[in-house]
Amino acid sequence: MKVVLCWLRRDLRLHDHAALYHALRSGRPVVPVFVFDTNILHDLEDKADRRVQFIHDALARMQATLEAAGSTLHVFHGSPQEAFRYWAGHYDIAAVYTNHDYEPYARQRDTAVAEQLRALNIGFHTYKDQVIFDRKEVLKDNGEPYTMFTPYSRKWKSKLDAFQLKPYPVEVYKQHFHRQPAIPVPALENLGFIPTARNFPPGDAEDALIRHYDQTRDFPAQHGTSRLSVHLRFGTVSIRRLAARAKGLNEIFLNELIWREFYQMILWHFPHVVSGSFRREYDNIQWRNNEKEFELWCEGQTGYPIVDAGMRELNATGFMHNRVRMITASFLTKHLLVDWRWGEAYFAKKLLDYDLAANNGGWQWAAGSGCDAAPYFRVFNPMLQAQRFDKDGAYIRRWVPEIDELTYPLPMVSHEAARKRALETYAKALKK
Ligand code: FAD
Repeated sequence: MKVVLCWLRRDLRLHDHAALYHALRSGRPVVPVFVFDTNILHDLEDKADRRVQFIHDALARMQATLEAAGSTLHVFHGSPQEAFRYWAGHYDIAAVYTNHDYEPYARQRDTAVAEQLRALNIGFHTYKDQVIFDRKEVLKDNGEPYTMFTPYSRKWKSKLDAFQLKPYPVEVYKQHFHRQPAIPVPALENLGFIPTARNFPPGDAEDALIRHYDQTRDFPAQHGTSRLSVHLRFGTVSIRRLAARAKGLNEIFLNELIWREFYQMILWHFPHVVSGSFRREYDNIQWRNNEKEFELWCEGQTGYPIVDAGMRELNATGFMHNRVRMITASFLTKHLLVDWRWGEAYFAKKLLDYDLAANNGGWQWAAGSGCDAAPYFRVFNPMLQAQRFDKDGAYIRRWVPEIDELTYPLPMVSHEAARKRALETYAKALKK
């Protein structure tokens, strides 16, 4: 019997899912498949990687649901090409359904897989799923991509209608999953990984939190943001459902979801940002790149309590509050004059919600080299930031309990001197 495969990637759920919906409506039995891609896994240095655990848990949940319906998920460990070679020998495949993936590696991978399938006479159908608007859907009137957030968000909102937010009713077609005995999801250990703690944020945010988001979002000591980033990253929540709720509850929260799409759009149109500055003249900056200082920053030992609190939160949990991401990134690039790519790579290693587009956008924003970045001469003052956003020091004390003890280091650079040095270095590079 001919089947179709639904290839899951950053859309690890069985509800409101574009590719799954189209696969289930194809008239053929559907086998959901997932590849633990060795091209990606090999690059993860830490074999106790929380992201791998998160993905594994999401697969196990889907597997339980599919098994209860008499079906199964089919998980392969290897390269995508090997996976499809294996599945093509195992099933009579009419077509593969999947959702668009926009990152440079994903685009290459999908081109190669599409070619491989074409040679086997197997169709390859892809759909928009992880964003409301992608690629060229929100452009300036003259057809060029936006590089400023505010006009982009205005256009984004003007295009938003009920159709964009309509969920894909996957559950209506659930009898179309292929019936076969369950195939166990490989254990983490068999993938070369070690199980980690499962202190993952819940995949839902309460209405009250979203409603008051604009008042609470800037204070890292509070539970004032949604913590949905990892779920958006791996698609364990639906962006359509979340955007529909945001629209009714809080405009500022909706804007954050638009920032996510803004940076994805930037990455799509300006792929040079992966390795270079969005504004190319910023590649002339003479970074100091002092390795010892970089290490102190990574470890949360700079002597600036808000910076250290953020880095320690990141190292301990895989999360850092957005306000503190901005402060720590600014400190590394401006106060220490370390290349933003070093910081970007460190966050990429540690963040549970690591996403190339958002991380690159955030880092370039902090370094001043990105689109819509604050002017380079605005250098965050970490003390003032702490006074403003952690007034009673609750966040700092949570992560830097020894703050009043002699063991806590003195500031590694003076704010004023570092600020002056940054301004001179930037001005020289930009010939201001
Ligand atoms: P909320 O404040 O509840 O926001 C809701 C959702 O909107 C987030 O889950 C996220 O998907 C999206 N969002 C919010 N702010 C941004 C933003 N500035 N850019 C893009 N999307 C946003 N976000 C990532 O998802 N992955 C990253 O790797 C990442 N790296 C960053 C690096 C730096 C230097 C900076 C300054 C920001 C980075 N961000 C990144 C953006 C932001 O900090 C996180 O999305 C946010 O802190 C996640 O917490 P939350 O889910 O509670 O967000």
